[in-house]
Amino acid sequence: MSRDGARRIAAATAPSAPRAVLLSGFGEPLLHPDLPGIVRELRAPLSSLIGVVTNGEELSEGLAGALIDAGVDFFHVSVPAATAATARAIAPGLDFAAVERNLANLLARTAGHLPVAVNFVVTAANRAEKAAVERAWRSRGACAVYAGPVHNRGGFLAPEAPAAAARDDCWVYRHCLFAAWDGTVLACCHDLAGLEDYGNLARDSLADVLARREARLRYTLAGIMCRRCDFYLA
Ligand code: SF4
Repeated sequence: MSRDGARRIAAATAPSAPRAVLLSGFGEPLLHPDLPGIVRELRAPLSSLIGVVTNGEELSEGLAGALIDAGVDFFHVSVPAATAATARAIAPGLDFAAVERNLANLLARTAGHLPVAVNFVVTAANRAEKAAVERAWRSRGACAVYAGPVHNRGGFLAPEAPAAAARDDCWVYRHCLFAAWDGTVLACCHDLAGLEDYGNLARDSLADVLARREARLRYTLAGIMCRRCDFYLA
C-alpha cells in the first residue's frame, strides 16, 4: 500500500467514523517498508482507534516505538505456542525466539498506557499449550489472550473438523470492511483469490462500495466463498 493510497482510503472512510482500523490480514503488515508512514496518513483524518495485528517477528523495539509515535493505539501479537518445539511444528519459518523477545519488550514498554493482546489460534498441534500461553502472557501484562479455533479461511484450508450446520451469518462480514493493499474491498482477509470485489476505496466513494457489498450480500452470499468457510458455518 502506498502512502497516497492510505490517504485516499482514510479520506473515503472518515465520514463513516469507523470504530477501529486494523492493519493486518493477507500477510504480515510489518513487512511493509514504511508502516509508520501509513499509520500517519490514517491518523490525521481518522478519529478511529488504530491497531496492528502482527506475528511479532519484526516488531523490534525501534519499529514498535516508531509505530507508537505515529499513532498506533493497540497491538495484537499472534503467538503460536508455549514451546519452541510446537511453534516450529506449526510455523517452521518463524523465529519464535524473536517473537517472544519482541512481545516481552513491547509489554514492558507499553505497560499501563497502551493495550497489547495476544492472539492464539488453537489447532490440534497446540491445544495442549493453550493454558500455558494464557498464563505466561497474562502474567507479563497482556491485556487479553484471544484463543479461538483455527478455521478454514474461506475454504482455502482443509478443515480440522467437519463444519456444523449453516447459520448464514458471520460477524466479520457484518462488522468489518476489508480493504486490500491497493484499496480493493473484498469479503474479508480470507478472500485470498479476490473472489469478491466491491470496488476500490482509493477510487470509489464509500457509499458506492457499501451499496455493491449490500447487494451482493442480499442476493448471492450463498454462492460466494463464505459458503465454504467454517467461520460462516460454525
Ligand atoms: S464467512 Fe469466512 S470468508 Fe466469509 S467473511 Fe466471514 S470469515 Fe470471511
